Amino acid sequence: MATILDAPAADADNEGGLIAVFDPTTGDQIGEVADGGAAAVDDAVASARESFTAMRWRGLPARDRAKVMHRAADLIDAQLPELMRAETLNNGMPKLLAQFTIANGAEMLRYNAGWCTRILGQTSDVITDGAIGGGRIEYHAYTRKEPMGVAGLITPWNVPLSMALAKLAPALAAGCSCVLKPAEETPLTSLLLTDIFRAAGLPDGVLNIVTGYGHTTGAALAAHDGVDKIGFTGSTEVGKLIVKAAAGNLKKVTLELGGKSPVLMFDDADLAKAIPGAAIGVFANSGQVCIAGTRLFAHRRIYDQVVEGLAGVAGALRLGSGLEETTDLGPLISRKQQDRVLAYIDEGRAAGATVVAGGKRLDRPGFFVEPTVLANVTPDMRLFQEEIFGPVIAVVPFDEEDEAIALANDSSYGLASAIWIRDISRAHRVAKRIEAGTVWINCQLANDPSVPFGGYKQSGWGRENGWEGVDAYLQTKSVFAEL
Ligand code: NAP
Ligand code: MG
Repeated sequence: MATILDAPAADADNEGGLIAVFDPTTGDQIGEVADGGAAAVDDAVASARESFTAMRWRGLPARDRAKVMHRAADLIDAQLPELMRAETLNNGMPKLLAQFTIANGAEMLRYNAGWCTRILGQTSDVITDGAIGGGRIEYHAYTRKEPMGVAGLITPWNVPLSMALAKLAPALAAGCSCVLKPAEETPLTSLLLTDIFRAAGLPDGVLNIVTGYGHTTGAALAAHDGVDKIGFTGSTEVGKLIVKAAAGNLKKVTLELGGKSPVLMFDDADLAKAIPGAAIGVFANSGQVCIAGTRLFAHRRIYDQVVEGLAGVAGALRLGSGLEETTDLGPLISRKQQDRVLAYIDEGRAAGATVVAGGKRLDRPGFFVEPTVLANVTPDMRLFQEEIFGPVIAVVPFDEEDEAIALANDSSYGLASAIWIRDISRAHRVAKRIEAGTVWINCQLANDPSVPFGGYKQSGWGRENGWEGVDAYLQTKSVFAEL
């Protein structure tokens, strides 16, 4: 069996070939998908455009669009065991996490299906004094919310199917026709969506899936003149490339990018809840979560207890195959990510950080990294500033509330944040001052299709979820009729 080291290099000249797909738990090849490239993107965009122009989806009664989305959600629920297994095999995440995130994807469809019949314009009685035409003129003015058109959706490997559905659901609710490009590492579950949506009754040409590498296939989609909107989740670095590529036809862009989310633990926090909460908040999915709480600021009075508590949880987590009941954490997605995460830890260690727990790869096949707790970290270290995307938390003490807020905000990212605390006034005062799109008080990782999600600063543009998420795939037309 081939291993991941034999994977074909990402090579623009190789387009039209195949991309090997691997199981990160073993390193074994489990499949291959087309390396679509620019030609496949052209075909997919043409198909989406044709369905949009023919109004095959956006022209349906809103209630019928909602029904299709509900049926797709029901089919996902009915196929949960197979989808969960495919997601775990391809991504490595524990099967319970796969089940949870896929079920959440189905809920995204149901929540957004509810918007189909609620996409409404507004009216305005306009009366002018006739400065242009002379005399008083009355108008009936109204707005229409119309789909943006062809939406290109580009997703990462960390939560593959859920991310795909989180983008498809609002785009479809809005009436867009879509081209989806999943990450090269984890295309398998997204590809299953073709059959699911066809069986649910989605008209031909409305959902088009292209596989391929980001710098070729993804870049072709982002730059394509036939695409009106890009919804992207991934790294901040690639987010900036998307913005540049989108400039050609000024397509609209929504970006969900990286994070370096701060966790503030005050000395009145309920540590019996806060310590495991913060541990799950960073180690879940082996840290491959954009909202992972990777910088923990603990009040100096509780600092030692927090570090020790986190190390205890890290040491107790069971690493292994996501298909086994007993597994808490699976591997990272690839050898490249494993090496990258370990390089951050090694660099930190060399610069004076103390590895209190973890810090090593596992001596077994697959791309495992031990959950790692670092103390004696200083904010100037690279591991403290950059998104590592692995199971690594850095713990830093603070003395004063202002100091904690300043440390939390000392980041180019602003995706999420958490406060563990009992003083409710301080909780809301701090929540107001943190520069992040989400603040959790006495919890972490909470999210819901109804609640807007997105980043301050370099963590993104726009919001997913809630009405704002649907509105991101709509544009407003204003109509004046003289009475
Ligand atoms: P990435 O490069 O940002 O990939 C995200 C998606 O964009 C993938 O589908 C990727 O395709 C595609 N892509 C890559 N280059 C592109 C381009 N020039 N134009 C259009 N699309 C492009 O993320 P990654 O390489 O998978 O991971 C690298 C780092 O990104 C991670 O270590 C982590 O720090 C961060 N990350 C963040 C998130 C998040 O949710 N915030 C998610 C994943 C990764 P291919 O993968 O097929 O090349
Ligand atoms: Mg990639």
